[in-house]
Amino acid sequence: MQDIKELSIEGLIAVLKEWGYPAFRASQIFGWIYKKGENSFSRMSNLPQVLREKLAGSFVSGTVKLREKFISDDGTEKFLFELNDKDLIEGVAIPAESRVTACISTQAGCKFSCRFCASGLLGFRRDLSAAEMIDEALIIKSHCRPKQFSHVVFMGSGEPLDNYENLIKAIRTINAPWGLGIGARRITVSTCGIIPGIEKLAQEGLQVELSVSLHAPDDKTRSALMPVNRKYPIRDLIACCRHYAARTNRQVTFEYVMIKGVNSDLQKALQLSTILKGFDCKVNLIPVNPVSEWGGEPPGKLETLLFRDALIKAGIRVTLRKPRGRDVGAACGQLRLRYEKKA
Ligand code: SAH
Repeated sequence: MQDIKELSIEGLIAVLKEWGYPAFRASQIFGWIYKKGENSFSRMSNLPQVLREKLAGSFVSGTVKLREKFISDDGTEKFLFELNDKDLIEGVAIPAESRVTACISTQAGCKFSCRFCASGLLGFRRDLSAAEMIDEALIIKSHCRPKQFSHVVFMGSGEPLDNYENLIKAIRTINAPWGLGIGARRITVSTCGIIPGIEKLAQEGLQVELSVSLHAPDDKTRSALMPVNRKYPIRDLIACCRHYAARTNRQVTFEYVMIKGVNSDLQKALQLSTILKGFDCKVNLIPVNPVSEWGGEPPGKLETLLFRDALIKAGIRVTLRKPRGRDVGAACGQLRLRYEKKA
């Protein structure tokens, strides 16, 4: 059965019209789901009983279940979700003063095999549907009170731009006033650099934030870390990001995971400033979070600071994330590091 969250409000209005109900019923139904977090049609008490039954016979809602929640010492919460086919995915809630950012997964597993990433180790299982992504956001929202659920980042497991149609559908619902009502500028898509996906996203007329996992300033190093670079090399990727920034009027963020002996020396910093020259972007440096199946380690403090300072000197806007609280699992740490600043 179809999940009702796959429909836009216009789609739901069309279904209701066919059934002989007026359009305002659609707002009531989505009000229950998106504003009150109610997934059970039978409990939608302001709807006629017959309509509740008809909905329950035609749609499902809320197929993603919360299996477990881990709370870190620093307040970050990691959610382990179970899909209806029993696959597991994870999401993270990253609190700031009065607000919470939800970091959500777009695929179960991942195809892209970045060497330092735990998600790829499991291989690819399947794309998540738009409704499943929205479910993740809704579950996280229901756990954030009294803080305000304010930002969404597509930075959990999987590659969002490899699941494009579902991603866009989820973004539109998360953004819509009849949906979760999160402003486009508070929604971030993080990609390993799928150029055609970035190009399409630039055409959507949505001002969503783009984060690009760059992690190296030259093709040799990047291809060794991220096989996707062989298909979409750095020069083309940066050109595409410049176009995205110009078209959407958003500043692109480049994620740069620092790995000792691989990409963190001064020469790499200089190369990075050269390739980003004249581009009004941001660089987010993150000391790599060690993954047990892979030997990479973060560089020492001095090397990290020298790298950062070289970028600052070159006029690049840069933030440095400190690895914190790995007490709720390494993957959570990885996700959180990236998005502390958004919250
Ligand atoms: N596929 C998307 C989104 C998921 S990965 C992308 O590549 O951007 C989210 C972020 O976590 C990426 O920047 C990724 O490079 C980073 N990441 C993965 N493993 C990490 C690790 N061990 N330490 C630090 N960051 C990591």
